[in-house]
Amino acid sequence: MAMNHRSHVILEKDLQDALTNDEFHLYYQPKVDLTYGELIGAEALIRWKHPERGIISPGEFIPLAEDTGWIISIGEWVLRSACLQLKEWEFSELDSITMSVNLSVRQLYQPDFLEIIRGIIEETRVNPEKLELEITESMMMDIDFAYTILRELKNMGFQVSIDDFGKGYSSLHYLKKLPIDKIKIDQSFIQHCTRDLNDATIVKTMIVMAHQLNFQVVAEGVEKEDHIVFLQRNLCDEAQGYLFSPPVAAYDFLTTVRNVNKVVEKHGLTNDDVV
Ligand code: C2E
Ligand code: MG
Ligand code: MG
Ligand code: MG
Repeated sequence: MAMNHRSHVILEKDLQDALTNDEFHLYYQPKVDLTYGELIGAEALIRWKHPERGIISPGEFIPLAEDTGWIISIGEWVLRSACLQLKEWEFSELDSITMSVNLSVRQLYQPDFLEIIRGIIEETRVNPEKLELEITESMMMDIDFAYTILRELKNMGFQVSIDDFGKGYSSLHYLKKLPIDKIKIDQSFIQHCTRDLNDATIVKTMIVMAHQLNFQVVAEGVEKEDHIVFLQRNLCDEAQGYLFSPPVAAYDFLTTVRNVNKVVEKHGLTNDDVV
């Protein structure tokens, strides 16, 4: 326990320095449209290149950043960096892709959050319609408050999606109440969906239900060829996962796009098949 406490403290002090020392980086993972078989977006995922510890994954420091409040400045940095990257891609062959950014609920609760995000949009001149804000359902405690903020974000033009759908509790309640565009089915359901009948049923049902509620559906953690077949057959809209590409640095993203195209071709994920 004492050891734990100590490393916690060291990390928290390091979190403070990480921003000023430019130790955070964004990686990008492609999102593929399953109907047309094309790359349509990227999800920005933070990495911390710690001078002594090497690369630290968000699972290890986001909870600490949330507890200590550092998530506010880190989150602002993430938003601005993702917008700048999206702007840069507008001048390349990636000109039509969208950018997904993960938001911590702690950010939403920040009194000036809307002002901050509006400021970033003005400063970077990104079209908010090309930005998708991902929120993890299990963390949205106050549904009325979440509704107000999400409504504002929708009015500003942002897309909103519920991340890790199915993993938390109260999921259906959120679907009923919140103004969202998409659900992202948690990877734990996708993993065995072609081998486990329960997972298959849950995934199929989630897709049908989401569509009937006018939400789009993204499958997370697509790692195998038969996942694609299953998801396409069940009319899932989009997919992300190691089968296409892991998250990569911005300078590797163009190469990644070519790999994605290869995977898409190999699986015959084309327009012709669907019609
Ligand atoms: P998430 O938003 O659900 O992101 C998906 C996670 O699954 C990423 O982990 C990604 O690298 C991983 N992943 C993608 N495809 C596959 C696959 O095929 N198989 C498996 N096993 N994993 C896959 P990562 O980058 O470690 O991020 C973990 C979580 O940390 C994210 O989950 C998100 O909740 C949070 N996170 C990441 N970046 C940020 C950020 O900038 N801000 C906030 N607030 N949270 C972030
Ligand atoms: Mg996400
Ligand atoms: Mg997720
Ligand atoms: Mg998540």
